[in-house]
Formats: sequence, C-alpha cells, structure tokens
Amino acid sequence: MSWSRKDLLDIQSLEPEELTTVLDTAQAFKAVGQRAIKKVPALRGKTVINLFIEPSTRTRISFELAAQRLSADVINFTAEASSLKKGETLKDTARNLEALNADFIIIRHSAAGAPHFLARVLEVHVVNAGDGAHEHPTQALLDVFTMREKKGRLAGLKVTILGDILYSRVARSNVWALRKLGAEVTLCGPPTLVPPAFARMGCRLTHNLTEAIADADIINLLRIQHERQRKSMFPGLAEYTRLFGIDRARLALAKPDALVMHPGPINRGVEIDSDVADGDRSVILEQVTNGLAVRMAVLFLINGGKAPPPAPPATPAPDAP
Ligand code: ASP
Repeated sequence: MSWSRKDLLDIQSLEPEELTTVLDTAQAFKAVGQRAIKKVPALRGKTVINLFIEPSTRTRISFELAAQRLSADVINFTAEASSLKKGETLKDTARNLEALNADFIIIRHSAAGAPHFLARVLEVHVVNAGDGAHEHPTQALLDVFTMREKKGRLAGLKVTILGDILYSRVARSNVWALRKLGAEVTLCGPPTLVPPAFARMGCRLTHNLTEAIADADIINLLRIQHERQRKSMFPGLAEYTRLFGIDRARLALAKPDALVMHPGPINRGVEIDSDVADGDRSVILEQVTNGLAVRMAVLFLINGGKAPPPAPPATPAPDAP
C-alpha cells in the first residue's frame, strides 16, 4: 500500500494498512542503519526543521539523525532563544519557517492539537513529535515495531501499559496502534490515573498489578508525567513505587519471556528498578535504535517515497528471551 498523507499528526486517524506500511518501510531502513555507509539520498535538497517547544532528548535527536541519514538539511529551533519569547505566535513563527522554504516541520508542543493546527495553516509537511497529553505517533510506531520484531506478531499479543495513563500521549498513541493491529491491551495504574473511557477502546482496565502482568507478553512502563498533573493524583512517589513499581521480584510474577519496554526518560527507583531497566528482559535501548529507523520511514513516506513490498511474516529475533 502506498502512503498518500501530507502529514503525520496522530495514530487515531490512520488505517491499519498505513501503520503496517510504516513498519515494513522502517524494517528496510533498519537494515540501512547496519551498513557501513548509513546515508541514503532520499531527502537530498529538502529542509527539515525541528520545532521543539517542549523539552526532549531522544525524540529530537532521533528526528535530527533520521533527517540527516536521508541527506536532508536540518535546523534545530530552540524555543528559549527564539522570538516566541518576544510574543510571536506559533502560527507566525511557523509561517516564517515556511517562508524560508522549509519542507518539513517536526513539532513538539505542550498544547494538544498544535500539530493539527499547523498542518491546516501551512503547506509544508507537519509531523507530530508529541502534543500535550494527546498523541506521540512516532513513539507508538517504534513501540509496535519493537514488539513485532521481538515477538513476531502483533495480532493477539498481550500488552500491558502500566503507570500514568491519564497524562500520557504515549499511552494514547500506543492504544490506538495496538488496537488497530489486533493486540490485546491492559491498562494498569492508580485509579486516578487510568481513565475509564479507555474501556470503550476495548482495553482491559485494572488497578491490580499482579493481575495486569500475569499473562502479559509485553509490559510497557510509563513515567509519572509531573509536568502535566494539575493536582496530586496519588499519595506520594514512595507509595506509587510500592504498589506499581517494577523490580526483579515483581517481574518474576510475569511470564518468563515477558519483555519490558519504556519510552524514556526512565525514573530509576520509581516506576522501574535498575535491575529491570538494565536486565536482559529490557528492550528499552532497542526501542531507541528502532526509533531512528521508524522516523526515517515516516519522513521518507511523507515525502512521497515508495514503500517496500510487504515484509514476510516476522519471526522473533533469535536472541529474544
Ligand atoms: N518521552 C515521552 C514523551 O515525550 C515519554 C515521557 O516523557 O515520559 O511523551
């Protein structure tokens, strides 16, 4: 299937076939990343602007490197040092970037819907790199890519997302992607952080950690999003860790081949213990590696690149536990 969208704004509006097209294309780009020469000319002459109005480590660097590997010119916009600080609106800033002949704007913003707004008012390609608590589409794509690579399938896979679901854009995008691709999703966390509305998307909701992880193939941990919580949502971090933190003893309650994921940044000793984060069941750093291939695929497809033929049914990687 070809890709015909100008932008990547969310997972909610994508068809399952479009998700699969990105995953198959990312697989081809992962192979490029393993070559001695990792650059391809697909975006030569194009300009990509990273418009990050909220902090980021992995996502910004990953988009920057993805664009460079596709031979694009990349500009990193730093909000702190920009005219946004002098009262310029987001729309005016973005229009000026377009006037400089930018071809892509990758935007991260604390306001949900900011990328959708820019996509409406600009001709350039817009990619959502995280908008408030709404969506983080490339994170979900790299997460499902990693799950498919490790477990060989997504349909019927049992995925537990654990933590601050309410304020997490990663959770929202993951739920959309996983449900569209046929996975079974369990959401777990303190009652104040697991919105009942997710049950309507076919998710199982529970506040009991043992029950949530017992039959999971994947346990995806989330950080407490302190920057977005408007009031105290649970008694305290120590209490949270006692009830929902994953350490080696807790992980022993899951299946022996259950894998642990986390979008980062991890808070060691809060939602995840170092033994688990650095242990052989953790694929956290592989997620980061895969993010690069996924972002190359997204930029390539949006630019009109042709997707490779559908991948043969994936087999779990030989080293998967
Ligand atoms: N890096 C992810 C995000 O930007 C997750 C997090 O910050 O906890 O949403």
